[in-house]
Amino acid sequence: MNSKLISIIVPMYFEEAVVEECYKRLTSVALSTNLNYEIIFINDGSTDKTPELLEAIAIKDQNVKVINFSKNFGHQIAVSAGIDKAQGDAVVIIDADLQDPPELIPQMIDLWENGYEVVYGKRKKRDGESFFKLFTAKAFYRVLNKMSDIQIPMDTGDFRLLDKKVVEVLRKMPEQNRFLRGMSSWAGFRQIELEYERKERFAGETKYPLKKMLKLASDGILSFSSKPIKLVELAGLITLSIGFIAVIYLFSSSILGIRAMELRWISLFIAIAFIGGIQIFSIGVIGEYVTRIYDESKGRPLYIIDREINMKKSDKKLLYIVGKDINTEKEYGTK
Ligand code: UDP
Ligand code: MG
Repeated sequence: MNSKLISIIVPMYFEEAVVEECYKRLTSVALSTNLNYEIIFINDGSTDKTPELLEAIAIKDQNVKVINFSKNFGHQIAVSAGIDKAQGDAVVIIDADLQDPPELIPQMIDLWENGYEVVYGKRKKRDGESFFKLFTAKAFYRVLNKMSDIQIPMDTGDFRLLDKKVVEVLRKMPEQNRFLRGMSSWAGFRQIELEYERKERFAGETKYPLKKMLKLASDGILSFSSKPIKLVELAGLITLSIGFIAVIYLFSSSILGIRAMELRWISLFIAIAFIGGIQIFSIGVIGEYVTRIYDESKGRPLYIIDREINMKKSDKKLLYIVGKDINTEKEYGTK
């Protein structure tokens, strides 16, 4: 048996309807790879049956590890906790709802074994998602790439394999507002895409309402770009120029004796509304950055773990990893 270890990270938020199926599919795929594996489920503060179901699985199967958060911290943070705890030579990040087919993992592993440190899934087709979601997702990736200073591949999600080297980089990025797919692009290394068709959710509803989508989108743009501030600056410059031209025009028309009284009122009103709008918008944009600085400056932990199952690096884990201790040359584990 190959002694490499793969960690599969699965965030779960109110996913009672998919827990069993997700576990079954992941396990059968993991077994088919002939590698050692661990599946890390992160219960991101669900209060339905998700935590109980996960616990029941973890008691039966030591390859399954569970992290229970003290409350809902959000998808990106849940995945980050998995990344922090994973012990694998590579990690695979996958959603619980089976929209991303686990059956692709062996191909990801093949590419990894051929020397790629990041293998990201690229969505070729997306089944069962609303027109609105498809449209906003498409628009988002286009805007993101125009705005951001790094190249983030189009139509990719968090479904990806990351080598241990990339995992180490991510662990060293303590940012609070996280956009993992951007962070893993930023890390560099050899990256390759793997196209796939995104399926419908196996069961349950999306856990990404518009509000969470907007938060993720703004994290994606603001964490990787200072262009919004530059655009605001540009807008300021343009209004200033327009204002300047308007002033010259009004004064010269007065001097020339043209009756410009009415025009003056109208332009005054437009100027106030327009400049006022731009100013408030600009403050908003700057505020977005300031709140992010504020978030970082507090230095709070990213997440709080309430309970972990099968997570300790105890002798239990050694039972499931076959290998040789480099110091004593003794073999451990079961075959
Ligand atoms: N998720 C999470 N915390 C949240 C929201 C979502 O851990 O606050 C998980 C969810 O359980 C799923 C993954 O993130 O495994 C992606 O969510 P979902 O499938 O609802 O998003 P969509 O595919 O609709 O964008
Ligand atoms: Mg989904």
